[in-house]
Amino acid sequence: MIKYVFGPVASRRLGISLGVDIIPYKTCNLDCLYCECGKTTDLTCTRQRFMEPRIILEQIKEALSQESHIEYITFSGSGEPTLNLDIGRIISGIKEMTSIPIAVITNGTLLHLKEVREEISQADLVLPSLDAASDDIFSRINKSHPDLKIESIIEGLIQFREMFQGKIWLEIFIAKNINDTDDEIAKLYEAAKKINPDKIQLNSLDRPPAYDDIHPADMKTLEKIMNDWNDLPVEIIKRIQKRNEISSFSKNLENNILNTIKRRPITVEDLEVMTGKNKQELFKYIDVLEKEQKVLHKIVEDKIYYTPFSVPPKKNEPGTSSTN
Ligand code: SF4
Repeated sequence: MIKYVFGPVASRRLGISLGVDIIPYKTCNLDCLYCECGKTTDLTCTRQRFMEPRIILEQIKEALSQESHIEYITFSGSGEPTLNLDIGRIISGIKEMTSIPIAVITNGTLLHLKEVREEISQADLVLPSLDAASDDIFSRINKSHPDLKIESIIEGLIQFREMFQGKIWLEIFIAKNINDTDDEIAKLYEAAKKINPDKIQLNSLDRPPAYDDIHPADMKTLEKIMNDWNDLPVEIIKRIQKRNEISSFSKNLENNILNTIKRRPITVEDLEVMTGKNKQELFKYIDVLEKEQKVLHKIVEDKIYYTPFSVPPKKNEPGTSSTN
């Protein structure tokens, strides 16, 4: 039987998250250059019933009966979830079975449709993306379906903000020499200001992309945007790959983190208390140490712990993969 539910996985943004994938592989109305799931094979704007909602709800129920420490049930996966005509029905079905918050990761392109806004407004957290504010850049970075127009997408996001009671975290992916010009960044700023999300998360490439002609923005570019947009709630979520990407790299802090993790498994919240540094700063070091296989994260009970890489996860212990 096809599995529509995956995880739980440790997610940087959402903690311990049970994933729900309600779209056939790479069915999307965008074909983003940076997509980590590969090239879109079915580029469509047509909303459809892809599978029987009852089967998805049964699988979620089954997963919830086996896992008790899930922080979010998250609609994500390898396509655009709002293309599924039944998303509203599935969200309300989940709401009837659990009080665990529901998150929807969406490209936001169908929010100009009133019915889509209403359907996903039942969620607790919506994470739309917006990588361009002009049509030429939109079609370049997102290789968008020809029916989509950026002005209408931005308008949809603004209207959704006006009616949605939950939280909106807007993700903006910055790619070198594509959407990082002063002109496009200024337009994105105006759009973000009007959308008025609870958070703006700047991201860039840190996993193999679908297409070769895209390159990551460097940390300096992201930090400049964050500083220039200081009247908006901006944070950076890009994974740091190398030490020299950490603008104020401290060997002492890295040693401190490593030594603490060697003594006992530890959460990032513990590290915040012990080092006096905030999560954002600590994750820069943890990303490098994980990439170098010096540190590993594990989900135990309701928390994400960091341990030395040499301690393998116990058999049957929950997953150690990371998404989002
Ligand atoms: S919207 Fe998401 S799933 Fe669709 S192509 Fe872009 S990154 Fe991939």
